[in-house]
Amino acid sequence: MKKIDSHLHVNFYGFDAEGIMNYMDSENIEKCWLLTWEEKHPAFKDLYENLTIEDILKLYQKHPDRIVPFYAPDPGRPDWKSIMKYYHSKGVEGCGELKVTYKWLDNEIENVLDGLQELRMPVVFHMEESNYHFFIKRNNLFNNLLDKLLNGAFNGLSRKYIEKFINKTGFFKKTFQSRLHYFPGYMMDLAGLEYRLRQYPDVNFIAHGPAFWNQLEKNPDPYLTLGKGKIKKKGITVSLLENYDNLYADISGKSGFYALKRDPAFTKKFLNKFCEKLLFGTDNEYKLPFEEVIRRARLPGNKLKQIMGENAEMLCK
Ligand SMILES: [Zn+2]
Repeated sequence: MKKIDSHLHVNFYGFDAEGIMNYMDSENIEKCWLLTWEEKHPAFKDLYENLTIEDILKLYQKHPDRIVPFYAPDPGRPDWKSIMKYYHSKGVEGCGELKVTYKWLDNEIENVLDGLQELRMPVVFHMEESNYHFFIKRNNLFNNLLDKLLNGAFNGLSRKYIEKFINKTGFFKKTFQSRLHYFPGYMMDLAGLEYRLRQYPDVNFIAHGPAFWNQLEKNPDPYLTLGKGKIKKKGITVSLLENYDNLYADISGKSGFYALKRDPAFTKKFLNKFCEKLLFGTDNEYKLPFEEVIRRARLPGNKLKQIMGENAEMLCK
């Protein structure tokens, strides 16, 4: 079976160029999509890592049959279309990862989508809700712990209970509030996405990220970083996949993995139904058993092949 990892980064999360090739060889992955991350004005410099197209092209030139280069220049660059055309001529086959604080309805995104329509390129994007990030200098054990507890540990639940405690007692309130910084979210929101899906039927959109995957269920708990438990009522994400032929999703990252792990009966139906629209990928989370979670659904062979590689192949011919 042909396997394509449709969401990888080089020089990120423990993978240098050699690490990427070793990982692919040991997992029998024939090809991978390598994605950039470029933000001219990241919301928080500390949380941003510039992943360049140059690093990707270097590896692509060594292994042109195994690396599929993707590039997402910052949408605010006025020469966006000519940059993409230039890199297209160098081998770039898609736009990604679009992980920026823009919103779908922004004019800059319209410019991006016009360009992609012209070049017939798909786009891989990361959706994440806005929130307040707690900033503290991590210079001792206590601050280190606070940083973790208030920024996502225990799947968001420690933040929930600490906030409740602070609001009730007033203890620590001023310091807490002075350290909160607004994060506008990435590529929001789902209504804006739907507008663009309808406006650009010829552009293939490949979704990813917690704000997409948490909406598999209707009204998810806003405190949870990653949704969990049985899915009782289908959410907006499922409806969008049902209604728009040009919407796809990659299952990469913690958000994709836990979305498929949380409710095996739902996952079985979900993978069967959307086998033409889902793409295997890891986002460098190579320790999570993605393939195992997919295989647990016992899909017919042709559907498994589509998810593991054929859909990616079809999107980037
Ligand atoms: Zn990524």
